[in-house]
Amino acid sequence: MTTVQASVEPHVVVVGGGLAGLAAAAALAEARCRVTLVEARRRCGGRAASFDDPVGGGLVDACQHVAMGCCTNFLDLCRWGGLDDAIRRDRTLWFIGPDGHRSRCTPTRLLPAPLHLAPLLFGMRHFSLGEKGALARGMLRLARHRARAAAGSATALAWLRTEGRQPERVIRLFWQPVIESALGESIDLVSVAAARQVAVDGFLGHRHAADLIVPTEPLGRLFGERFVGRLRAAGVQVVTGAQVSAIERTADGAVVAIQHGTERLPCAAAIVAVPWKAAGRLVPDAIPAGDEQLAGSPISAVHLWFDRDVLDVPHAVLVGRVSQWVFRGDPREDSGHCQVVISASRGLLAEGRDSLVERVVAELRDVFPAAGQAKLREAKVVTDPTAVLSVRPGVESLRPKAPTAVPNLFLAGDWTATGWPSTMEGAIRSGRSAAAAAGGHLGLEVAGPSPGLPKNMLVRLLAAP
Ligand SMILES: Cc1cc2nc3c(=O)[nH]c(=O)nc-3n(C[C@H](O)[C@H](O)[C@H](O)COP(=O)(O)OP(=O)(O)OC[C@H]3O[C@@H](n4cnc5c(N)ncnc54)[C@H](O)[C@@H]3O)c2cc1C
Repeated sequence: MTTVQASVEPHVVVVGGGLAGLAAAAALAEARCRVTLVEARRRCGGRAASFDDPVGGGLVDACQHVAMGCCTNFLDLCRWGGLDDAIRRDRTLWFIGPDGHRSRCTPTRLLPAPLHLAPLLFGMRHFSLGEKGALARGMLRLARHRARAAAGSATALAWLRTEGRQPERVIRLFWQPVIESALGESIDLVSVAAARQVAVDGFLGHRHAADLIVPTEPLGRLFGERFVGRLRAAGVQVVTGAQVSAIERTADGAVVAIQHGTERLPCAAAIVAVPWKAAGRLVPDAIPAGDEQLAGSPISAVHLWFDRDVLDVPHAVLVGRVSQWVFRGDPREDSGHCQVVISASRGLLAEGRDSLVERVVAELRDVFPAAGQAKLREAKVVTDPTAVLSVRPGVESLRPKAPTAVPNLFLAGDWTATGWPSTMEGAIRSGRSAAAAAGGHLGLEVAGPSPGLPKNMLVRLLAAP
């Protein structure tokens, strides 16, 4: 076994090169800490991953990822990584109703939050005036529900039907697609607290909160290549294709070294930034009892390659259909590629790939005239069965914080206690929190997560519990 000698500087090893691990390494590097990041796969980025395009060549994201204007840490990390040129900010959300009517919904910059949402909510052509009013009132009720919701056991669906007083049609054509896309889990399983966060932080809270942040380059290139290049330039040693097999500890539990293959990396502290099951294998004592209650939710991406581009909008929410959100492939490539994202797809998996592709293609042909004439050249369904942590009632109490009972061992990952759902923003916040905690242990000043968007007086008043 090769042993890498520790230098005088404290050495921190980050295990896992997903967004949580990348964010932790960047924060520590900024504080001039010596950092090694060890990633099992060939490429960093974790679940924000890409595969080789079978038709056009290059890379295609396994599943389209988007962030929102409220994802301040995601935006901040992209800035640090020099990725600003590969991020697009779309203010318009397209909703396509069950009858095929399109609604172009753009929050206004002329009114203060939360009034900026009026054109978005009232622009939905598939709702009657009465339904739009019920939706606006429901959103405000949800915003005011904080105290009881955080502790309670209600699911979002149960709350919307009872206290939220939402008509079934508004639930099915607004709340369901919006909450399920944002949380990656079914509306009858997620907690009302998680749904409230989507309403407040993702919509009501700030004029830019609902902006859609869309990567314009494949995630594999952004995080797997460009971001890693920035980390290396900042002095971080990034080791890929190296699965950490063990974390060496003293009799009292303190971490002394990380092992991968025949390598042994002595360290002053370790940040374990891997999904909960992998963390349970590496540091079982640091994972809270009851972790078996943590469950994942599946997300599927149906990739379609037509013989021409079929979408005339960059993306659209298809309400009342199996296809939830459709995204145009890279328009510069003119590849005919688009992908349909379906969150909480567990019920669909049983029906089989071919039938799912057929259904999705039929739905696209229903709403995009160009798809009617286009020939399908290739299709691929990519499903991650544990794409995100299922944020069910009670799950918050099981999510561990970054510091563990072991003073030099820290946890990160979108499943840890970030106060955010399992998203890129949550992952980055977790990495930054773990880095700040590790820095505190080593006597270094490491910046933690950046604050969210500021809320004006009106929002604070309306969203008060
Ligand atoms: C299909 C899908 C769609 C999604 N859509 C969105 C979206 O639109 N917006 C959004 O914000 N989020 C989305 N997410 C969620 C987002 O991808 C995750 O929240 C985020 O990427 C998690 O980052 P992480 O670093 O916590 O974990 P991961 O990305 O899982 O990273 C963990 C890393 O640890 C590595 N690892 C594991 N074990 C070891 C070991 N023993 N040694 C070394 N390395 C190890 C893994 O290889 C992996 O690279 C989506 C996820 C999926 C799967």
